[in-house]
Amino acid sequence: MRRMAALYNPAMKIVVMPGDGIGPEIVAATRQVLDTVNERLALGLAFESHDVGFKSLEREGTTFPAKVLERCRDAEGIVLGPVSHSDYPPRAEGGVNPSGTLRIELDLYANVRPSRTREGMRHWGRGPMDLVIVRENTEGFYADRNMHLGPGEFMPTPDMALALRRITAKASERIARTAFRLAMTRRRRLTAVHKANVMRVSDGLFLRETRRVAAEFPDVAYDEQLVDSMAALLVRDAARFDVVVTTNMYGDILSDEAAELSGGLGLAGSINASETHCMAQAQHGSAPDIAGKDKANPSSLILSAAMLLEWLAIRHANDAFARAHRLIEGALDTLLMDPRRHTADLGGCLGTKAFADELCRQILV
Ligand code: NAD
Repeated sequence: MRRMAALYNPAMKIVVMPGDGIGPEIVAATRQVLDTVNERLALGLAFESHDVGFKSLEREGTTFPAKVLERCRDAEGIVLGPVSHSDYPPRAEGGVNPSGTLRIELDLYANVRPSRTREGMRHWGRGPMDLVIVRENTEGFYADRNMHLGPGEFMPTPDMALALRRITAKASERIARTAFRLAMTRRRRLTAVHKANVMRVSDGLFLRETRRVAAEFPDVAYDEQLVDSMAALLVRDAARFDVVVTTNMYGDILSDEAAELSGGLGLAGSINASETHCMAQAQHGSAPDIAGKDKANPSSLILSAAMLLEWLAIRHANDAFARAHRLIEGALDTLLMDPRRHTADLGGCLGTKAFADELCRQILV
C-alpha cells in the first residue's frame, strides 16, 4: 500500500534538519544540490525543514522536539546535519541526541559507509580502492543500545567497569541480508568481519546467521576475516574488498580507517537505513571551530544525500533517482579532479557556498 501511494503521489517528502555548528551551511549546500537534481530530473521531492539542536533548545526547550520525530516517521527520506550532541545539557534539561533517537525510533539498523578513491585526490592507502562497509547499528558494544532500561555499562566497584555486548540472530540476519543484496549490485564479493576466535559465542552467532544468509546468495563470493587482520589488510590491499559486513563497533572503527585511507572523512558519505526509512548524515561532526565562516566542505553530506537518492531508487524501483545519484557522484568526481575547485580542508580556496555553486553548474553540464 505504501509503495502504491508513493507511485501515485508526485510529492515525496524529505525532512531536512540543519543541526549545529557547520550544519546549517553544509545542509544549505546539500539542499542546493538536491534542488538542482530534483528540478533537472523531475524527481518530485518536496522538502520541509525543521530546527533541531541548540536552536530548537532555545525555542522549544528540547534539542529534538517530539513533533519533528513524527514528521521524520512520515517522511520518505531524512537529511540530518551534524549535531553538537556532546555539548548538549542532560536529557532532563532538554538535551536529546536527534541522531541516536532517530536510529532507535525508526529502527535504522544498517549503517552503510562506502570508501572510494577518486582520480586526482590524494589517498593514504597503497592504491585505488572501492568498498562499502555495512555495519550493524542497533546493538554490539554500545552502552546506549543494549538494555531495555539504562546504559549497558556498570561499575560494581569503583575499580571495576563492565560493558555488555548484545548480539542477536535477528539483527545479524537482517544486516547480512542487506549486505548480500548490496553485493549483488556491485562486484559480488562479500567479506564478514569478526573475532570469533575469542568472542566465540557472540561473534559465533553473528557468523552463524551470516553463513546461513550466504547460502541463499550462491553468486556472491563469500569469505571471512578476523577484525585484526582486516585492519591490516585495509592498509595493505584494500582493493581486494567489495562489500564488508560486520558488527557495530568493528564496523565503526574499520569504516573510519577505510574512509581515511581512501581520502579522508570529508569525502565519506553515510546512510542509516531500514526497509522503510533512510537518513543521510555526514560522517564528520559539527566542527564548531569553523562554524559560520563559509569554510566547511559539504561533500560528505552531499554524498550521503546522493546515497539516500540511490536508496529511494531501489525502494521505489525508480530509475530517475538512480540517475540523480550517478549525476551527483559524477559531478563531484569531476570537480575534485581540479584543485582550483577544492575547499580549504583539501588545500583549495572555495568556500562552502561557492563549492555548491560549482557542483550544481557541473550537474547541469
Ligand atoms: P568534528 O568532525 O566536528 O571536527 C574535527 C576536525 O575536522 C575539526 O578541525 C573540524 O574543523 C574539521 N572538520 C570536520 N568537518 C569538516 C568539514 N565538513 N569541512 C572542513 N573541516 C571539517 O569532530 P569533533 O570536533 O570531535 O566534534 C565536534 C562536535 O561534533 C561534538 O559536539 C561531537 O559530539 C559532534 N559530532 C557529531 C556527529 C554527528 O552529528 N553525526 C559525529 C561526530 C561528532
